[in-house]
Order: sequence, then C-alpha cells, then structure tokens
Amino acid sequence: MNPTEYPIVELKDVHKSFGNVKVLKGVSFAIPKGQVVAIIGKSGSGKSTALRCIDRLEIIDSGTIQVCDHAVHSPSVNLRQLRQDVGIVFQSYNLFPHLTVEQNITLAPKAVKNLSAAEAREIAARTLKQVGLADKAQAYPEQLSGGQQQRVAIARSLAMEPEVMLFDEVTSALDPQLTGEVLRVIESLAEGGMTMVLVTHEMDFAARVADTIIYMHEGKVWETGSGDMLKNPQTPELRDFLSHGL
Ligand code: ADP
Ligand code: MG
Repeated sequence: MNPTEYPIVELKDVHKSFGNVKVLKGVSFAIPKGQVVAIIGKSGSGKSTALRCIDRLEIIDSGTIQVCDHAVHSPSVNLRQLRQDVGIVFQSYNLFPHLTVEQNITLAPKAVKNLSAAEAREIAARTLKQVGLADKAQAYPEQLSGGQQQRVAIARSLAMEPEVMLFDEVTSALDPQLTGEVLRVIESLAEGGMTMVLVTHEMDFAARVADTIIYMHEGKVWETGSGDMLKNPQTPELRDFLSHGL
C-alpha cells in the first residue's frame, strides 16, 4: 500500500446503542493519512456519536476502530496515548475563563507531554500563529469574539500535535460573519496535510475542502463520494436532505 494511503482512522462495522436505541448500525469508513472526510446528515443520524467513538468518548458495542496504532475498541487501549493522537473540537469551545489564551493552550502539553513551560509557550506561539491569533496570547477568553475563541480551541488541540483532528459542527454556534474565519483556519490545516474529520452543515465548504463526503442516515453510511456527490445525489434520502436541510 502507498504510505499516503495508509489509514489513520478505520471504522469497521461499528455498532452503538444507547439503551435500546440503535444509533450506529454497522458504520464503516477509512481515512487515509492527509485526507479530509466530511460527515453530513440530518440531526440525530449519528454523526456526533461516530466522532465520539473514534476518541473513545463513547465505547462501541461491536465492530472495530483503529486509530494509528491504537485499537480503540479494545478495553486495553492506552487512552492517554490515543488522546494525544486525536484532537477533537466541539461546537462549544470550553476555554478556561480565568486563564489567558496562552495558559489555556499550554496546560495539556505541560501536564500530558511533560513539556517545560518554555517549550509549551513556544508551541502555543506557533499554533496561535497557525490560527491567525499570534497577538492574543495574553488575552482572556472573554476579551475575544466567539470565532476567535473557537480558533483558540483549535490551537489548543493542535498544541498536542495530533495525528488526526475531529471537528464536530464547530461553527454552528457562531454568527455567520464569524463562521468564515474558523472555516478558513480548517481549510489551511487541510492544505497543510492534516488528516481530519469534519461534521458540518456547511455544504459548500464540505464540497470544497473534503476529499470524501460521507452522508449518514439513520445510523448508517448511506452515500459516500467526492464533492460532486452533492450535485448528483444517488439516493432519495440525500436528495431530500440537500433540498430540505436539517
Ligand atoms: P447527530 O450528531 O447526527 O445529530 P448524535 O450522534 O448526536 O446525532 O445522536 C444520534 C442519536 O443518539 C440521537 O437519537 C440521540 O438522541 C442519541 N444519543 C446520542 N448520545 C446519547 C447519549 N449519551 N445517551 C442517549 N442517547 C444518545
Ligand atoms: Mg451532532
């Protein structure tokens, strides 16, 4: 196999229920290194659950999930190492309000990777530059816009130097004028070769940035394709979703 095609994330026949509600019903997909996958679909179709399973925030009932060299489904998976390799960013950015931007970013690298304060500050400076906020290291979250806070949350994830980044509707809570600046950061990460999974409602963005689009419907991968899939849906469900939205 071409090394660039080696999957960083691979789900095989993943099933997950909450109580007697089946949420994932045999989900399989693989993400080669450096590729971007966008997951789209109606609210409740299982997108967030699929993402959370990849980071073992949810434990699957059956199937397998491999992330780099971690067997995520295995009870003996090393969570600390898994979570170093997987960065996850949510709709709510959850920055510590009493810490500066820099302190928010350096916390985990110091605690988890045992970096010195100076090394961690260097990484914070680099990741803040990546998200276009080099001048905000000493600011407090409340002094920033929602879009800027979300970019700090992305910088915080990048500071752990993950192998793959997962984004769960990271612009859904933002005003439209702030959405663009966050999407531009994600796009620049894609251009830089970051392996990523994006759960998003931004269809134009997904079509432009993703190598592969996955349409989830009722806990299954219903349709998969390139950006063109959105112009030429093959199933009535995707056609319906694209014309009616959420
Ligand atoms: P999506 O992200 O596509 O909107 P989710 O993965 O969040 O979908 O949810 C899929 C289904 O799983 C929904 O019916 C939701 O209510 C249910 N669900 C998600 N998380 C839990 C949970 N922790 N406990 C019970 N039900 C859940
Ligand atoms: Mg969701």
